[in-house]
Amino acid sequence: MVVQSLFPRLLHLPFFRKPTNTLFFLNPLNPKPALNPSSRPFTTLLRSTLVAPPSLEDDDADLLAAAVPQIPADRLFVPPETEFPTGDAAALSARVLKGSNIVLSKYARDAQVVQAEFVKSSVRTEDCPSDGLPEFALVGRSNVGKSSLLNSLVRRKRLALISKKPGKTQCINHFRINDSWHLVDLPGYGYAAAPQELRTDWTKFTKDYFLNRSTLVGVFLLIDASIPAKKIDLEYASWLGQNQVPMTLIFTKCDKRKKKKNGGKRPEENVQDFQELIRGFFETAPPWIMTSSVTNMGRDEVLLHMAQLRNYWLKH
Ligand code: GDP
Repeated sequence: MVVQSLFPRLLHLPFFRKPTNTLFFLNPLNPKPALNPSSRPFTTLLRSTLVAPPSLEDDDADLLAAAVPQIPADRLFVPPETEFPTGDAAALSARVLKGSNIVLSKYARDAQVVQAEFVKSSVRTEDCPSDGLPEFALVGRSNVGKSSLLNSLVRRKRLALISKKPGKTQCINHFRINDSWHLVDLPGYGYAAAPQELRTDWTKFTKDYFLNRSTLVGVFLLIDASIPAKKIDLEYASWLGQNQVPMTLIFTKCDKRKKKKNGGKRPEENVQDFQELIRGFFETAPPWIMTSSVTNMGRDEVLLHMAQLRNYWLKH
């Protein structure tokens, strides 16, 4: 598999590891149960009732308390080379990033964005920048909030508008951050109004990028947490899992709250449901983070997560 040769340095990360049962990926809507948690690394250090750490900002504390009441150890994303005193679940829980399943590691540094600039739009993987900088790709259904998240990450109100200009919406758009890494805006998928042939083209073209871009550290798949899981998103997650493309789930619009009496679910419930649905696609649960571009919830956590993946990638 091409991807294995692209990510040899990362294959020992839990979420980069080759799945042992490819049948897991056959039916996104009816996944098989996850593997036995006891077979996973790090779990011996942990108890199964880790709680979220105290929030750094209290404005969305109630939402987060409901969102991450307890994360079982086997559902955490623990970066490699993360050390904890044996059996010290409290020490570990204090290092779980707010509104996520991601544990803070020694690689979490240089997370702040001080400079961001548009580099170029490419229509083929071969035309992407060749400076060798590590990169993260943002992808999601049209209207999921990708541009808003990109702007929120770089703290620039209109940077992502560049990729919305005519001619660029179907491109791979590279933004250079701090002169040391790239954020990549990929075409949104599932836009109902697009002609079928265009939709297929976008898929082919993005898949080629995922499989052949050697500097791609991870794909950030955006999922709208204000609505129930969509089949196309589950299929996307399944495809990434099947092809062992390193992936993080970014749940967007987590500030939007639907009243139960209207039949709608809360973002945290949709987040849980989505994870249940994709459980069978991965040997170990992929990293996930809840975000809102309205409240900026999750922004710093996404940047920290990117920093630790990037720094680990650079070192190995
Ligand atoms: P894109 O098509 O994926 O780039 O999505 P946009 O960033 O353009 O956002 C689509 C719509 O969702 C816009 O009306 C945004 O204002 C809205 N939106 C985006 N992010 C959020 C969010 O975090 N919370 C809420 N409530 N609305 C959002």
